[in-house]
Amino acid sequence: MSFTTFPLGGIHPPERKELASAVSIEVMPQPQRVVIPLSQHIGAPCKASVEVGQEVKAGEVIGTPEGFVSAPVHASITGKVTAFTSVLMPIGRMVQAVVVERAANRPDEAWQPAEDDKDYLKRSPDELKGRIKAAGIVGMGGATFPTHVKISPPKEKPIDAVIINGAECEPYLTADHRVMLEYPESVIEGLKILMAILGVTKGYVGIESNKPDAITKMLEAAKGSNIEVRTLQIKYPQGAEKMLIKSILSREVPAGGLPMDVGVVVQNVGTANAVYEACRYGKPLIERVVSVTGGGIKSPKNLKVKVGTPVSQLIETCGGLKPTAGKIISGGPMMGFAFYDLNTPVIKGTSGIVVLEQKDATGSDKFYNCIRCGRCVDACPMGLMPLMLSLFSEKGHYADAKDYHLFDCFECGSCTYVCPAKRPIVQQIKLAKTQVKP
Ligand code: SF4
Ligand code: SF4
Repeated sequence: MSFTTFPLGGIHPPERKELASAVSIEVMPQPQRVVIPLSQHIGAPCKASVEVGQEVKAGEVIGTPEGFVSAPVHASITGKVTAFTSVLMPIGRMVQAVVVERAANRPDEAWQPAEDDKDYLKRSPDELKGRIKAAGIVGMGGATFPTHVKISPPKEKPIDAVIINGAECEPYLTADHRVMLEYPESVIEGLKILMAILGVTKGYVGIESNKPDAITKMLEAAKGSNIEVRTLQIKYPQGAEKMLIKSILSREVPAGGLPMDVGVVVQNVGTANAVYEACRYGKPLIERVVSVTGGGIKSPKNLKVKVGTPVSQLIETCGGLKPTAGKIISGGPMMGFAFYDLNTPVIKGTSGIVVLEQKDATGSDKFYNCIRCGRCVDACPMGLMPLMLSLFSEKGHYADAKDYHLFDCFECGSCTYVCPAKRPIVQQIKLAKTQVKP
């Protein structure tokens, strides 16, 4: 049976989902200490609203937004603020963070809902949006764009469709799969809330065909609603917003444009779940499901983790590293970033921790001249000429790269994956983007 997909390019890396896809979500015990970055989103960092020595409760705001595109940050455990510090994030940026420690003799005081608003769908769009904003929800697929901003398009950009992205096309990652299997009603209710806010009557969930059990669960949960569950072909980067919109609605987001330009808002599965929890129970985004997987970890798992927990503790909970472990990546191996430091905390956008084995980790700096084989052109889902972007960047001709639609590249890495000359095309593209203005 053939399923829908995007027409141009795409690749088929080994999926490796079997390592963790059948492992139920395990709630990780509350850590003794969390380090909570004040910038876990695209946009202005938050300003700390607590002082050293102050007692905080799980769910209490500890960082307030400083700009329109920003999202508040909350304490993920109950304890005392013991320090302010800087942490190195996987993208190589230092950010300010708040350290919260539990008293050793104190019982776990997890966040508890203060309310249960069963009539959430009867609330006004502004009321619901306010709850999402107060909960500090951001895109949990890794993009970390504040959700309340994404669902506030300007009047001249009317929205007629909301898509929940359940493709999870990155190899290894299984967190979204497990969320759809274990919390299907929450995901669908989250989608209904987003549709109500945007005044949209049609919703979609897009899932790759390698998750048939999740498709069944979501179909059951969506029964009787205006929500369609679409099965998508397995092809990377199926979960990229532009590809998803093309696959499901046959709409083309224009160059330099956004999904709202074609009347669409796309949200991740985890985000939809968080939206539901915020609008019904007032729950802030203080924990998330993280896939800890890969050939280099002893027991791959899907862990529900408090934001601010050091990555090293997740690895420990999964039995530790195998002697063959190589690179450790935040996110998937195609678009993720290598960890520099395992004390780095889990943030709202941490979808996975993938431990590759040494044999699978491409660590060599050596690459060769382009042989003009054209494989990167065939692989590019945006119809670009990655070889030219690579060559111009290598020679420092960044303005020429711009003429070849440099800024239409969304850094999926498909070109790099297929290049027989091992050219670091996506890294060269990223460099070029820092040298010229869009
Ligand atoms: S990284 Fe950019 S140039 Fe390379 S395949 Fe993806 S979109 Fe195309
Ligand atoms: S895949 Fe590599 S070698 Fe082939 S054309 Fe592209 S950059 Fe050149």
